[in-house]
Amino acid sequence: MEQTNESPQKTFTCQLCGLCSPFTYYGQKPPNTRAIVLLEECFVTKDPFSPDKEKFLVLGSTCSLCSKCVCVGSDCSLFYTKRFCMSCVNKHLDQFPRQIRAELAKKKQNSKAAVS
Ligand SMILES: [Zn+2]
Ligand SMILES: [Zn+2]
Repeated sequence: MEQTNESPQKTFTCQLCGLCSPFTYYGQKPPNTRAIVLLEECFVTKDPFSPDKEKFLVLGSTCSLCSKCVCVGSDCSLFYTKRFCMSCVNKHLDQFPRQIRAELAKKKQNSKAAVS
């Protein structure tokens, strides 16, 4: 087997919506940032639209319950003290505060309205 110096590009894939994107770092403190510590371990990539080295994008994270990789899109995950994927949110809906449940219900209504 020939060895190459190029490491294969790491790819983050959302296990709910299938969003797929290369990422450069996974963790709580992205490199080249001075004072940023994220609230959770995230898949992070450099912001391709910004020349600023400190700019980065959070692609997603892992669900704290089922450890699925999920993107930060509001259809796929929710951050409430920890990251939860939407299937776990729905499974444990009664354990979330009323405010969160109300927001989710509102969102559901909105998406239904958009369809019809
Ligand atoms: Zn997603
Ligand atoms: Zn989950």
